[in-house]
Amino acid sequence: MTVRVAVNGFGTIGKRVADAVTKQPDMKLIGVAKTRPSFEARYAIDRGYPLFVGGDGRIEDFRAAGLPVAGTAEEMLKGADLVVDATPDKIGREHVAQYDAAHLKAIFQGGEKPEVAEVSFSALANFDAAHGKRRVRVVSCNTTGIIRAASVLRSRYGVERWDATLIRRAADPTETKKGPVNAIVPTFQFPSHHAPDARTIYPDLPISTTAVVVPTTLMHVHVNHVRLHRPPATTADVISAFRETPRFHVFRSWEHVDGTPQVMEYARDHGAPRGDMMKNVLWEDGIRLDGADLHFFQAIHQESIVVPENIDAIRAMCDLAPDAASSIEVTDMTLGLRA
Ligand code: NAD
Repeated sequence: MTVRVAVNGFGTIGKRVADAVTKQPDMKLIGVAKTRPSFEARYAIDRGYPLFVGGDGRIEDFRAAGLPVAGTAEEMLKGADLVVDATPDKIGREHVAQYDAAHLKAIFQGGEKPEVAEVSFSALANFDAAHGKRRVRVVSCNTTGIIRAASVLRSRYGVERWDATLIRRAADPTETKKGPVNAIVPTFQFPSHHAPDARTIYPDLPISTTAVVVPTTLMHVHVNHVRLHRPPATTADVISAFRETPRFHVFRSWEHVDGTPQVMEYARDHGAPRGDMMKNVLWEDGIRLDGADLHFFQAIHQESIVVPENIDAIRAMCDLAPDAASSIEVTDMTLGLRA
């Protein structure tokens, strides 16, 4: 079975998901929708993706720019089995009625409230919960990072308490209108929205989060302190647990990856499309078990970490894979996340 996928919203996340869909043996990209002509609209055409006009966009503007348009987003949806909505925060919810009317399954992103969907999703944690669902929300980049780590720690060791400080990038590299440029901005919300968001997937996760925004575009970094119920004997056991789990990359001491710039350079060196790093990134030197207390840093590439999760959500919703492991295997193989 091949699922026909439409992508509504072709920006940072939408174009990555569209590219990923074209690499799947069980999916076909039937089109992407944008509101305005832009370099990204041209990219869609150059890649041979049927380009449709979404939102309040005007077909004439695309034609005036010399970009061939296949029709409106409404027309695109008619040919799809499922739509991935990757429009900006709070816009996706405005499309629910339209998708329902077209009898389409729909995936929303983390910028939408959980209520937009029947279930919030992260592949390692709750793949089965999305089976047969009509509306699923892939949680945000930071929450995806937390939930992946939680899926490793909960099952093996049990989590008694978890405090995380999220050092958040100010903007994506392509954004020119966001800051701060020269400030460290604490979020005066205790906990930050990430803890309740994580509990949309693991309702009993005893996590508390705080967040600080800093002037960088190169990834988020989480500083984690976790009290474990059944701690393993050594730090090496925890490192092995992360290494054994898909979608984790643990740098070794001798690699001298001091911070996020080297992580991004590593991804570029290895020819990752756009220099993306879709795995949670940890450091051997940045993991320490002290009795029952686990301390670890992890870096999260905001622009790409949710891409494999969108692909797995499609598989779960359309019953294309029997379980999470089978779906993750295909996704990670096709996206170059495993050998
Ligand atoms: P973006 O601004 O880069 O891209 C959104 C695209 O949607 C733009 O091309 C815009 O022109 C288009 N668009 C706007 N209104 C539209 C409409 N009505 N119909 C069709 N297209 C429309 O946004 P993004 O960063 O890709 O974010 C998309 C979603 O993914 C948000 O919910 C966001 O919270 C979430 N998300 C973003 C990141 C990130 O770091 N960028 C990470 C994880 C999740």
